[in-house]
Amino acid sequence: MANVADTKLYDILGVPPGASENELKKAYRKLAKEYHPDKNPNAGDKFKEISFAYEVLSNPEKRELYDRYGEQGLREGSGGSGGMDDIFSHIFGGGLFSFMGSQNRSRNGRRRGEDMMHPLKVSLEDLYNGKTTKLQLSKNVLCSACNGQGGKSGAVQKCSACRGRGVRIMIRQLAPGMVQQMQSVCSDCNGEGEVINEKDRCKKCEGKKVIKEVKILEVHVDKGMKHGQRITFTGEADQAPGVEPGDIVLLLQEKEHESFQRDGNDLHMTHKVGLVEALCGFQFTFKHLDARQIVVKYPPGKVIEPGCVRVVRGEGMPQYRNPFEKGDLYIKFDVQFPDNNWISPEKLSELEDLLPARPEVPSVIGETEEVDLQEFDSTRGSAGGQRREAYNDSSDEESSHHGPGVQCAHQ
Ligand SMILES: [Zn+2]
Ligand SMILES: [Zn+2]
Repeated sequence: MANVADTKLYDILGVPPGASENELKKAYRKLAKEYHPDKNPNAGDKFKEISFAYEVLSNPEKRELYDRYGEQGLREGSGGSGGMDDIFSHIFGGGLFSFMGSQNRSRNGRRRGEDMMHPLKVSLEDLYNGKTTKLQLSKNVLCSACNGQGGKSGAVQKCSACRGRGVRIMIRQLAPGMVQQMQSVCSDCNGEGEVINEKDRCKKCEGKKVIKEVKILEVHVDKGMKHGQRITFTGEADQAPGVEPGDIVLLLQEKEHESFQRDGNDLHMTHKVGLVEALCGFQFTFKHLDARQIVVKYPPGKVIEPGCVRVVRGEGMPQYRNPFEKGDLYIKFDVQFPDNNWISPEKLSELEDLLPARPEVPSVIGETEEVDLQEFDSTRGSAGGQRREAYNDSSDEESSHHGPGVQCAHQ
């Protein structure tokens, strides 16, 4: 569904697509120093490219859009401001709002206008329940007063000075028999190739043939639609004379949800239970994406092990275009154990009598050595843990030689 994301911005900074923030910053600083216009006035737009690439990649949101959807994913943040558009075209070719086949000719041979891409943020609730929303946008439409001609019929004339080409060739004699040809933008028509007689010029569009119009699109987000899915409004992009308008394409951006994570049509959530619930059954209630209160019961006698996952069939996301079929809901249980010394030693031995018996300790023959078992905070780490972090920081190659078993041993 999504296009293969491109890596141009990473190439500009000379880093791999998975580069860390630190690597990006280092690469950017080095290149920015090297290509700064003060130091390197002949580098052209190189400095702008570098700055642009870094601006995008150092912003987690923009970077994600770019990684997923390439250049068209970036449209949101950049808003099409003049300077940005320039550097955008310089890097990607085409304007900010042109991408992927925008230069295509349509089936009937007319030139096809540019498609316009807009990201549309939607909540998981919207994707579960479906939603109709209105989107307001401003676009060029053919002027209705002059039918997109710029003036009265016949008022638009081919520019005679440049014969409609928009440029003029000037011949300058440098010496007898030696001439120089110079091309310049036609001043009579400002390079348009056409002139409109002032009095016949359309009053409404001032001869521009198009006017800006605010358009409201009704967008139907259907149940079960997914992140990255496109909603296309065919032929709704900017109009221009003699051009078949491109499409407006909305790219769905699923917002993160505080309780559910989505995986295709399945949902995942985590629920905390205490030790007594884990051993003696429980009941809890949660609010689903359509606001239903769901009661989950687990009978006494059934045990929840720490970190285990149970499933509720049919309580996941509705399927797109088949919304009565739903995915499943996976609940992962986080079992909360009591704190140290939560119970008196006498009660503890009573409890032990109730719990499954401990395994018999085999008697040891020969010399033994008793050691201390200490508490260990894996986020701060012992000396061993720190060593491992140092490895990861200084060299990725080094750490990749360690098998997963080695890493697990420290965690
Ligand atoms: Zn002209
Ligand atoms: Zn007009």
